[in-house]
Amino acid sequence: MTKANPFQNAIKQLDRAAKEINLNPDVLAILKTPKRILQVSIPVVMDNDRVKVFHGYRVQHNDSRGPTKGGIRYHPEADISEVKALAMLMTWKCSLMDIPYGGAKGGIVVDPKKLSHGELERLTRGYVRSLNGFIGPNLDIPAPDVYTNPQIMAWIMDEASRMIGYNVPGIVTGKPIEIGGSLGRQYATAQGGIYVLGEACGMKNVKCDRSSRVIIQGFGNAGSFTAKILHKMKFKIVGLSDSQGAIYDAKGFDPNKVELYKKETGSVVGYKGSKVLSNAKLLEQPCDILVPAALDNQITSRNANRIKAKIILELANGAITPEADDRLNKKKVLVIPDILSNAGGVTVSYFEWVQNMQQLYWEEEEVLSRLQKVMRLSFKKTQETAELHKVDLRIGSYILAVSRVAEAVKLRGY
Ligand code: NAD
Repeated sequence: MTKANPFQNAIKQLDRAAKEINLNPDVLAILKTPKRILQVSIPVVMDNDRVKVFHGYRVQHNDSRGPTKGGIRYHPEADISEVKALAMLMTWKCSLMDIPYGGAKGGIVVDPKKLSHGELERLTRGYVRSLNGFIGPNLDIPAPDVYTNPQIMAWIMDEASRMIGYNVPGIVTGKPIEIGGSLGRQYATAQGGIYVLGEACGMKNVKCDRSSRVIIQGFGNAGSFTAKILHKMKFKIVGLSDSQGAIYDAKGFDPNKVELYKKETGSVVGYKGSKVLSNAKLLEQPCDILVPAALDNQITSRNANRIKAKIILELANGAITPEADDRLNKKKVLVIPDILSNAGGVTVSYFEWVQNMQQLYWEEEEVLSRLQKVMRLSFKKTQETAELHKVDLRIGSYILAVSRVAEAVKLRGY
């Protein structure tokens, strides 16, 4: 089975929204095309003194509303179609949150687990040098994504600052607190998702207690914090997974204990008392809330009809294909689309950048209260737009986001 082309899926979603709002075809043509695509090769001296050449990308989709912003993904299957799709999603996401950024995304084709600490640092610094002149606090601001973390952001900040000649913390977000990171950034994606999930639970009469069962695919940054915060809020976490496989226990997990187990063994698989499943089967288990928080294209036309959840919080970008959306709609599953669900990450990244630019740092409570306000307002506006156009939340979110970008494109001229 060939993998669906992520950029084609992103274009399909854009076309659906464009049709709803009768978007000017010239503006649509601009929005369909990334402003800049960089493809770089990064030679790295490996620990055995041999050189290995890695391949990386940075796509800047649209900067009509402000500098471009988006994460960097280290993954063996990173490819240009995926990076282009994710860059476009970032444009919509920033617009939906009404923050003054356009969208970008980066990727390096690498399995970072196979690299030593030193190799990973040299690869990261090489990637930054290859993007010299194309990233900057007022130009394009990277952030973490799959398999990249605050340490990698620290190297990016350091290498870019060396090239510029002085410290430029606002060139990248998701940094460690000690060098200009924001309080709350580490769990912002999960927390932002949970703020909008709260609104969705109200719509679907799903209670915030042990009667509500949650399955989470992926136990990295987005997935593990979501599991821990929901567990603290008394939801019952019945399924978890990572790249090694999935675990299920109808009695519920304490994700803090599963995290300790994963630290010791390298995976959630094998956790005591749990049933082991494939990642695909996990998605089809009984639950009230399903949270895909790993990779794209996980819920497709092949498995959508077998999903049992009432609400899907799409934390992973592009986890649900457009065909699957149609089937889930027919089944009355409420999908909170990725550009809304996972926008807490970029929103607190924006807060981090604002703090860096002002050299003035906020308390955690201030970060969270601002995040909650932005997430709830964006959910409300998305819901209103969806109702007005009689469409689902995904198309509603696209209509709102695309309209704002289209307006900026028209106002600036082309
Ligand atoms: P991460 O690298 O921290 O974690 C990814 C997790 O997915 C890991 O637990 C990994 O084992 C698991 N995984 C990998 N392949 C899998 C597979 N085939 N099946 C099941 N699990 C698998 O990444 P993250 O930052 O948590 O990002 C996850 C998703 O959330 C991505 O789509 C990312 O774009 C999106 N996202 C993350 C952020 C953020 O701030 N971290 C923000 C917005 C969107």
